[in-house]
Amino acid sequence: MSSPPVFGKVIMSQLQDNFGRRFHYLRMSVTDVCNFKCGYCLPDGYHPNGKPSFLTLSEIEQLVGAFAEVGTQKIRVTGGEPTLRKDFTDIIRLIADNDQVNTIATTTNGYRLEEHAQEWYDAGLRRINVSVDSLDPRMFYQITGENKFDKVMRGIDAALEAGFERVKINAVLLKDLNDKDLPRFLHWIKSTPIDLRFIELMETGLGRDYFQAHHLAGESIKQRLIAEGWQLDQSDVDDGPAKNFSHPDYQGRIGLIMPYAQNFCATCNRLRVSATGKLHLCLFTEQGVDLRDLLQAETQRAELVERLHAQLRLKKETHFLHQGFTGVTQHLASIGG
Ligand code: SAM
Ligand code: SF4
Repeated sequence: MSSPPVFGKVIMSQLQDNFGRRFHYLRMSVTDVCNFKCGYCLPDGYHPNGKPSFLTLSEIEQLVGAFAEVGTQKIRVTGGEPTLRKDFTDIIRLIADNDQVNTIATTTNGYRLEEHAQEWYDAGLRRINVSVDSLDPRMFYQITGENKFDKVMRGIDAALEAGFERVKINAVLLKDLNDKDLPRFLHWIKSTPIDLRFIELMETGLGRDYFQAHHLAGESIKQRLIAEGWQLDQSDVDDGPAKNFSHPDYQGRIGLIMPYAQNFCATCNRLRVSATGKLHLCLFTEQGVDLRDLLQAETQRAELVERLHAQLRLKKETHFLHQGFTGVTQHLASIGG
């Protein structure tokens, strides 16, 4: 086994599973609440299940500290809609205060981006993924249930102006909905330095019918891109399971996330913690493992780190989506996608 990485004077005991995969990337959900009603996620909007109690700033600080200690270098703040939290900027700031974490990212529906892009950048946020499922405002409304296309696009402009390292656009590919939008998306990134990420629709517990009606294989998009001269890039350790394509005539790039493709899980580099402090070893695990009891004081750090290592030894080699097994994941708003 190779020796653990050294950062400054601290020797990290990096998280690794039984299949040799290392985990330097945490997707941390900070809320389940969302103000959109995406058909594949929360078609009826967010409905609280009892009185929600999401991780507090101080619990988040403990969580970030422990993950940093086991080699986490990148944290993505997600949700629900993470930016609905009133202390979202404070969350970014406290992650930025941790020297071991060198990349802070978020995934957002873009609803609050126009007003806050600069503030978040100044707090330390460097990468932002904005979900835009269609460049046709009517289709955007049909998919998200919100008539906010223009506002979200102004938010993207604000992010580009604020100086974000990477502005990525997430679009879930949907048969008979946005599948005709590919040329529009391509036209957009010809002269705009945007990274587009096409995500293949995943089946969730509450989304079976939607999946049956709208699932579109990512492979078909891959073949179309290759036919139009797009080339598969060398993968970078940061890419995880995404396949990235570039084209000499385009400023933007395209990433494909195809969870149903063979070997998708082989490059898994991420762990997830839900907004209530449960560790999920996979987007589609049977159940999360509670960490919250060990997030109450810094004196619990060693025990928390030990629990993380112990859980990693249980991580399975792959998900079981092909068999229609979606674990406890009723929708991705509960764990952040
Ligand atoms: N609310 C934020 C947003 O929409 O960007 C962050 C949370 S959302 C759950 C994270 C990502 O998961 C979004 O890009 C969304 O499109 C994607 N997503 C949600 N449900 C999905 C599904 N069933 N299959 C594939 N992607 C999904
Ligand atoms: Fe909300 Fe994001 Fe889910 Fe859409 S995908 S309903 S914006 S959490």
